[in-house]
Amino acid sequence: MSVTGGKPLHCLSFDVEEHFQVSAFWSEARRQQWDKYESRVENNTRKLVELLAQHDTKATFFVLGWVAERYPDLVKALANQGHEIASHGYGHELVTTQSPEQFRDDVRKAKSILEGLTGSPVWGYRAPSFSITAESQWALAILVEEGYRYDSSMYDRFQRSENARGSNRIVQIDTTAGRIWEISPSTLNVCGFQVPVAGGGYFRLFPYATSKTLLQRLEKQGVKLVMYLHPWEIDPEQPRMGGPWISQFRHYLNLQKTQERLSRLLTDFRFGPMRDIVCPVSVMYQEKDLLVAVTEK
Ligand SMILES: [Zn+2]
Repeated sequence: MSVTGGKPLHCLSFDVEEHFQVSAFWSEARRQQWDKYESRVENNTRKLVELLAQHDTKATFFVLGWVAERYPDLVKALANQGHEIASHGYGHELVTTQSPEQFRDDVRKAKSILEGLTGSPVWGYRAPSFSITAESQWALAILVEEGYRYDSSMYDRFQRSENARGSNRIVQIDTTAGRIWEISPSTLNVCGFQVPVAGGGYFRLFPYATSKTLLQRLEKQGVKLVMYLHPWEIDPEQPRMGGPWISQFRHYLNLQKTQERLSRLLTDFRFGPMRDIVCPVSVMYQEKDLLVAVTEK
């Protein structure tokens, strides 16, 4: 664990998508209307970037290909400010509802769009709603084949585990196509159950003092925290979507409190992008040179 600056370095990430693209409100009919809804992702992401700058913090942004096509300057600005650009796929469809061929097309298209904008290799992937599960682990080999170096899509929340440190893992997984890093969002083992403490709706559900206590407990165990949030989670003014009450409750809970909580989180803990934590700097630069060489041919 890095202790530069006196505090351990943890992973912070954002899934850059519109408020109407979340899986909880997904329907095929709504998917056809995406271009007609009010877009709020650019403003919300720029607010996040300002907040990160105030705390001198860099993060990983898993950008949806659909968003990158519409806001290329946003992606370029994130990269220019030193944040890591990673892939959230193109169309925000669950891995579990895609065929391997559809999944390959989706992650290839997103990677190509993002790399075309930044000129740097995209190494990371996060599936919509953490949908790489035991049943869809075939996706990992495809990610390796498509040039991804790490995945952050496996989230063992509420599963049973005997491991006292929870399901926290930054590990290499062997696939039929080669190795890939898996960086799972943090959970805390409470009575044998993996309680999610890493962000999103759980970060909005708990009072900040509770989140801080749970995260500090993990930190003391030597666990590298892996946190995630979405730009729409700092936007209490977003238009309300129709859907099941449980989805509405989870999506709209405490939106007005997230920004202030995130600010406190950035004060109390030290974060960086996933790429820097997983991969040595020397390898990063070699890769960048390779990409330039390939592009210039
Ligand atoms: Zn998403």
